[in-house]
Formats: sequence, C-alpha cells, structure tokens
Amino acid sequence: MVEHLLTRLGVDLSAHAAGSHAVHTPIDGSRIGTVALDDRAAVAARIERAQHAFEAWRAVPAPRRGELVRLFGEVLRRNKQALGELVSWETGKIAQEGLGEVQEMIDICDFAVGLSRQLYGLTIASERPGHHMRETWHPLGVVGVISAFNFPVAVWAWNTALALVTGNAVIWKPSEKAPLTALASQALLEQAMREFGDAPAHLSQVSVGDRDAGLALVEDARVALVSATGSTRMGRDVGQRVAARFGRSILELGGNNAMILAPSADLDLAVRAILFAAVGTAGQRCTTLRRLIAHESVKDEIVARLRSAYAKVRIGHPLQGSLVGPLIDKASHDAMESALARARADGGKVHGGDRRLQAEYPDAYYVAPAIVDMPAQTEVVRHETFAPILYVMSYADIGQAIRLNNEVPQGLSSCIFTADVREAELFQSALGSDCGIANVNIGTSGAEIGGAFGGEKETGGGRESGSDAWKGYMRRQTNTVNYSRELPLAQGISFD
Ligand code: NAD
Repeated sequence: MVEHLLTRLGVDLSAHAAGSHAVHTPIDGSRIGTVALDDRAAVAARIERAQHAFEAWRAVPAPRRGELVRLFGEVLRRNKQALGELVSWETGKIAQEGLGEVQEMIDICDFAVGLSRQLYGLTIASERPGHHMRETWHPLGVVGVISAFNFPVAVWAWNTALALVTGNAVIWKPSEKAPLTALASQALLEQAMREFGDAPAHLSQVSVGDRDAGLALVEDARVALVSATGSTRMGRDVGQRVAARFGRSILELGGNNAMILAPSADLDLAVRAILFAAVGTAGQRCTTLRRLIAHESVKDEIVARLRSAYAKVRIGHPLQGSLVGPLIDKASHDAMESALARARADGGKVHGGDRRLQAEYPDAYYVAPAIVDMPAQTEVVRHETFAPILYVMSYADIGQAIRLNNEVPQGLSSCIFTADVREAELFQSALGSDCGIANVNIGTSGAEIGGAFGGEKETGGGRESGSDAWKGYMRRQTNTVNYSRELPLAQGISFD
C-alpha cells in the first residue's frame, strides 16, 4: 500500500536501496520502508549546493518566485488524497487529519503567492532636507528546516512556501520517524519545478537524517536561518548553538495548552471543542488541550459529560473510520503510563488511559484517552506529555484561573469558554493569557494559516505561517538617499 502511494507521488526509493534506517508505521508496527541517513559530510555538501541555488534564486523577481509556489499548490491539490493517506500511514493520523494537513500546505501556498507581490517595506520621513529613507527586505540565504513527526508535512510547507517567495533556498531535515512523507513532498515540489522551467537546481533539498544531520545544519554558519520544530529539549540545544554563531532561529517547541471553562460557558459547545482539542491526533499536537481549568460550579458536570463523550470515541485503525489512531511508538506509550502514575501519586483520579487493541496490534500502541481529575496543578501537569491526557482542575475566580493558565513553563495556545464579554476581553488583554494564541469559545488546536503561529516562554518565541511571519525569512535594510546638492548631517552635527 505504502509503496504504491510512494510511486504515485513520484518517489524513487532506489537512491535509498543501501539504507539501513527502517521506517515503521504506528498503525501496526510493521516496516513500511528503508531509507539512508545523511551523515555530516552529506549535509555539508547539500549546504554548498543550496548556496549556489540561493545565489540564482534571489535575483528572480518575487512575483515570479510566487509562480513556483502557485504551481506547487496545484500539484498538491492533484495529490491531496495520496499524500494525506501517506501521512496517515507514517504518523497514524486519522484520514481526515491527514487530508487536513495537506490542505494546510495548499492554503499556505495560496497565502505565499499573494505575499510574493506584497513584500512591502516602509518609507520613512527623513529629518534632512532633500533626503528620503526607506526600508527594503532582501532574501536571507539558506534556510534549514528541522521538523517533528507529528506535523510531518505542513510545518515544512509553512516554512518552504514563505522561504521560496522571499528568495531563499531550503534544506529540510524531517523527523527520522517520518522520512517517507518528506520524500513525497519533495518529489511533488520537484514536479512543480519542472513545470516552472527554470528554478535553480537544489533550490529545495531533503536531508533524511537523525539528530546528527540536524546538528550539521544548526552548526554551519552558511545556514542563515534555522527553523526548528520539536520538543523544548531539542529547541534548547538548537537555539543556543545557532545563537553562538549569531545565526537566526525560529523555534516552535512544546506546548501545555489550557482551556478556562467559565460558569457562563455553553457546555454543549465546550464538550465538542474539548473532545477535538484533547483527543484529536491522539493528543499528539503541539496545540493539544492538556489542561482544563473549570469553574468549581461546572467542574463535576463537565467531567461527567466528558467521560460519557470519551466512552463513545472510536479508537482504532486511522484509515478505517476511527477518531483516535495510535501513539507514534512505545516510548510515547511509556511516557504516558509514567505521567499517569505520577498524577495518581499526586492525588489525581484517572479515568481511561488504558492500552487498547493489544491482541490485534501487539506492535502498535493504541490507548484510551485519559481524563485526570487533579486536586492541584502539580509538577506532572506543568510538563508536556505527548499523549492524550487531559488534566482537570477547578478555580474559584477568574484571576486564579488566569494564574493557573500562565503558571507553566510553556506558552503556546490557550482559550476561554465564556459568555461574559468582560472575562473574554480580560483573557485576551495584557493581564490575561501569556500565550502566543488566546482564543474565545474555540479550542486550543486547529489554527488557520492566516495568523502568525507560535508561542512564548519554553515554546521558543518563534512565529511561522501567516501575518508578517515572512519577515523572519528576510533581512531588513535601511536606505537613506540624498537627492540634494548639500551634505547635511543627522542630529544637526556640523563637521566643517
Ligand atoms: P523531537 O524534539 O524529538 O524532534 C524534532 C526534530 O528535531 C527531529 O527532526 C529530530 O531529529 C530533531 N532533533 C532532535 N534533537 C536535535 C538536536 N539536538 N539538534 C538538531 N536537531 C535535533 O520532537 P518530536 O517528538 O518529533 O515532536 C514532538 C514535539 O514537537 C512536541 O514537544 C511538540 O509539542 C513539538 N511540536 C511543536 C510545534 C510548534 O509549532 N510549537 C509543532 C509540532 C510539534
């Protein structure tokens, strides 16, 4: 099945025939491919080639660069079904979520095409007569993209669509758990390049590799920007290494996202939003809802309603109509079990969380999503466990709820369910949520590409995708032009 999909998507695995890195599907644990990993020398050679590509590409007018991304969007539209399915096989996402991820790629292509005619700079009033000032934005160089397993293709597309229209070359180091979708996405981009005609060779490359290949990108001063998505542990390492060589980084790291459920909340709406945000993608989204901070007057009712909704959720093969697929691997299941044990030790009451379908799939890790009624926000709650665990805590007043929302090291996504406009505005004000995303009556996950995506504190501070995130992929230049016959100095300085 996977081989057939790869062929349809234009992937030639013969280049990887001698590879020894096995790729397993989390659906049943079976091997679905073998790839060769880049060593440091191979990455260095890619950087060299990318630099040449950059030198040619930066001279191409931005709207023409946009044409390549427009063609890529068209290729993706034609291959949405196959690539979506491959995402499901490689990561265990349910069919709808695999397709949704490809749609996100298409959406960012559309956004980037428009952007290619809108890379605006400012004009600035000069204090000197006969002068004008302006700000211009120039391509940056080689962009290294390091991505996580859980959004194996969309995150690369966010980065690549913007990096290409802004005039850069890209080297992508995908997760070693999801190299096949990366090779397929690259093959589709190459198809768009052939239709485009004269894109420089090696404008976009995939470096299939592990942490070592990532480090080779991170430590090389020729890589102007490293955009890294993954755990906070990875980001702490990458951020420091890139900073040490004065490189630029965009860090998109772990989240620990909360919902405040106010007494006035529409509980029917809230149950649906919680279910999608806490259980979707088997709890393996950076924006997954992990903490529910419910007013003491509604907490018991929401827990009861959630328990009954959770009981109806179908867990199983992601391409056969289930809502919850498997965890990515055994390590992930071990982490979930150990978090639940710690929560119990802290006085938490655990509902669900048990392993499922073990007889049918002994080498895969399906779990029942867990709800944990916690007496307080203890250490285990402050930590991101990348699995479907929803900790529920109660609050008495809105100030306390906002403090609980903010009292974790991460700062990615947050939301409040309320019908009280004062609470909603407070939550989104400077005194409210300290996260990069703060929603009202919408869950924490499922962002649109039009907004800037990212979070504060240990989430890394990076912004990708919409709004003016494109500026992260360009260098800013301030220009002053003297069109007079005098040479007045700024600040009125006389130097005669
Ligand atoms: P991970 O940190 O294990 O790996 C991510 C990527 O980093 C992989 O490609 C890996 O090979 C590479 N890597 C790891 N250590 C490295 C190092 N020292 N130097 C260079 N590269 C290195 O993460 P994962 O398990 O694949 O993904 C799950 C994590 O990603 C979660 O914490 C999740 O919240 C986070 N995530 C964040 C966002 C976001 O936008 N904020 C999006 C998706 C996932």
